[in-house]
Amino acid sequence: MSTGESEGEQAERMAFILGLRQRGIRDVGVLRAMELVPRPLFVDPALRRHAYDDVALPIACGQTMSQPSLVAAMTEALSLTADHSVLEVGTGSGYHAAVLSHLAARVVTVDRYRSLVAEAQARFEVLGLRNVTAYVGDGTQGMPARAPFDRILVTAAAPDIPLPLIDQLKFGGVIVMPLGAPEEIQTLVRYVKEQSGRTRTELMKVRFVPLIPGAAATL
Ligand code: SAH
Repeated sequence: MSTGESEGEQAERMAFILGLRQRGIRDVGVLRAMELVPRPLFVDPALRRHAYDDVALPIACGQTMSQPSLVAAMTEALSLTADHSVLEVGTGSGYHAAVLSHLAARVVTVDRYRSLVAEAQARFEVLGLRNVTAYVGDGTQGMPARAPFDRILVTAAAPDIPLPLIDQLKFGGVIVMPLGAPEEIQTLVRYVKEQSGRTRTELMKVRFVPLIPGAAATL
């Protein structure tokens, strides 16, 4: 696969991975997946010079893509294996879904904005990622047609985990999601569903755009 990357860009990508290691990302599979996905492809052309900086960046429709170290930490928290079926709620640019696609068997990602989904799907095709599909819809309802899932990642914040997501998670499955009020500091939570009960672990303080019920009327 050629993404037309220059030597300078390759060096930048190596420095990017080193930076993630320095920020505490240890999982070799996650680091490898982050290395395989060219972040500039997912970033607004006007902001490409910041593509490998560890900062959150604005994307279309007033949304935000998280800083790479947070993408990596959330991915680590999912504890993915190559046979997993994963749902991501909040496609945005498609970057995080592309990272997941290198670590799981299948990735389904859903966003309420049609234009974001179309752009993300086009990026997946450019990269030849065949195991990730983006859908337009209300992710608070999950994706019943593709359920159940081994792992669910939510990249927008809400006061609680939507019940349909818990219903569509297999036993032994994990949900990683920011919980808290919009416009405030939220807590990234790792939720595990077992036959015998549920556990919730608080991972770190974060800030995400809100999870808004319903598909968007326009865009
Ligand atoms: N993971 C993305 C960033 C997501 S930003 C990336 O890698 O670029 C959060 C996204 O959640 C936004 O695109 C927003 O439109 C979406 N979102 C908010 N509420 C939603 C809902 N109910 N269903 C699906 N997507 C939703």
